[in-house]
Amino acid sequence: MQTKDTEGLGLHRIVIVGGGAGGLELATLLGNQLGKRKLAHITLIDKNRTHIWKPMLHEIASGSMDYTLHEIDYLAQAHWHHFRYRIGALTGIDRAQKRVYLDAYADTDGELVTPQRSLPYDTLVIAIGSRTNDFNIPGVAEHAIEMDTAAQAEHFHQKLVNACIRAHAQTDNLHAYQLQVAIIGAGATGVELAAELHKSIRTLVKYGLDTIEADRDVNLTLIEAAPRILPGLPERISVDAARILTKLKVNMRTDARVAAVAEHQVLLATGETIPAELIVWAAGIRAPEVLKTLDGLETNAINQLIVQPTLQTTLDKNIFAFGDCASVDWLEHQPPTKVPPRAQAAHQQAVHLAKQLARHLQGQALEDFHYHDFGSLVSLGENWAVGGLMGNIARGTLFIEGYLARFMYNMLYKKHQLSLHGFWKTSIETIAGILRRTTTPRIKLH
Ligand SMILES: Cc1cc2nc3c(=O)[nH]c(=O)nc-3n(C[C@H](O)[C@H](O)[C@H](O)COP(=O)(O)OP(=O)(O)OC[C@H]3O[C@@H](n4cnc5c(N)ncnc54)[C@H](O)[C@@H]3O)c2cc1C
Repeated sequence: MQTKDTEGLGLHRIVIVGGGAGGLELATLLGNQLGKRKLAHITLIDKNRTHIWKPMLHEIASGSMDYTLHEIDYLAQAHWHHFRYRIGALTGIDRAQKRVYLDAYADTDGELVTPQRSLPYDTLVIAIGSRTNDFNIPGVAEHAIEMDTAAQAEHFHQKLVNACIRAHAQTDNLHAYQLQVAIIGAGATGVELAAELHKSIRTLVKYGLDTIEADRDVNLTLIEAAPRILPGLPERISVDAARILTKLKVNMRTDARVAAVAEHQVLLATGETIPAELIVWAAGIRAPEVLKTLDGLETNAINQLIVQPTLQTTLDKNIFAFGDCASVDWLEHQPPTKVPPRAQAAHQQAVHLAKQLARHLQGQALEDFHYHDFGSLVSLGENWAVGGLMGNIARGTLFIEGYLARFMYNMLYKKHQLSLHGFWKTSIETIAGILRRTTTPRIKLH
């Protein structure tokens, strides 16, 4: 079935698939620049109805953030910023007919909301992100929770609260696995989650679950195959983070390769088992499988679409890809490498593409994307962060730690909000958030 092809007829149709950190910013920018002046017809497609900024997932998982207060409704954002939103998961494309195919969408009762359909495009932008890579390790899908969506983070949070309530209500001794949390993968996600959980479990226990003594009963174990935590970041950040996690009594198991995950335990390649009631898999990424089936477009081993420096796919100049789902050369970097899968990269690419798509419409030559690494910040609880800043502020890397680092970490989300909502709405929401904290529990308790 096809949808109304008359939608946007007569205008250049730009279809963006994926309303994440990059795609929603791009749709908003293009809507404001081109959609508002009827210079192009902009459509955003996402398989979900609301947007959540992924770097916040560890805060949702620990309960320190109520995600319902941070969801952005695609329909409302589209209405306010002059683009259209259509729901559906990308299932394929037809490059000759210039159509994008979407799966049917059903509600939670299984009742059909939208049928399988296809939409026409003149220019297509694919920004469907990535998901955790389980490297086909046995038991991960069945027994570990991944941290890719707000629903998974919320699911983990509910299991965490239930584990604490269960342990509190129990008259027998706790089993060896109870209140033990194993986080597999000590990249930024795993490290930030461990630090956040240290605080939120103690806060949760204070709300009347007083038979639990966190220092005695709760254990957080971070498991990493590399020789150090945060293996992708400079060693200095890794050392600083490890020092703080040690203070927070997080067990760090480096050089520890996971062979399998089973119910209530993680099995290491050495044969050792680590008991755990809650197991999080946060190691590595891969792009969605559907990218391998897009009418012959080139992909790499982790399903990312291979693009030119202009972010156009190698085989079709009318199809662009960016963010985590694209393999983009990091020009100027020595030794040669790819742009890392980060929110700051998706943001920079969205800003770049907004300008370039206006040129594309006018048939002008496109400029290459140059990634600027401004450094990395890793949050370690409510008020602390460590990291290194690069770029104009610092010659080389400026290492920072503490409240200032945490403030700058928070600014990353503010920047995302600013690009979606502008100054006034972001300011009002920030003030409302501060006021709300005076009347609500410090963490989400259900
Ligand atoms: C827990 C966690 C913490 C992180 N922390 C940081 C951090 O501190 N700093 C940092 O820079 N980066 C961080 N990242 C990485 C960052 O979140 C990603 O690099 C960034 O979100 C990528 O943006 P994107 O637009 O490419 O994809 P995403 O933001 O993942 O958005 C993809 C969108 O595509 C939609 N979609 C997926 N499949 C389909 C389909 N088939 N059809 C239609 N729609 C689809 C999804 O619903 C989603 O809306 C973190 C990631 C995680 C998981």
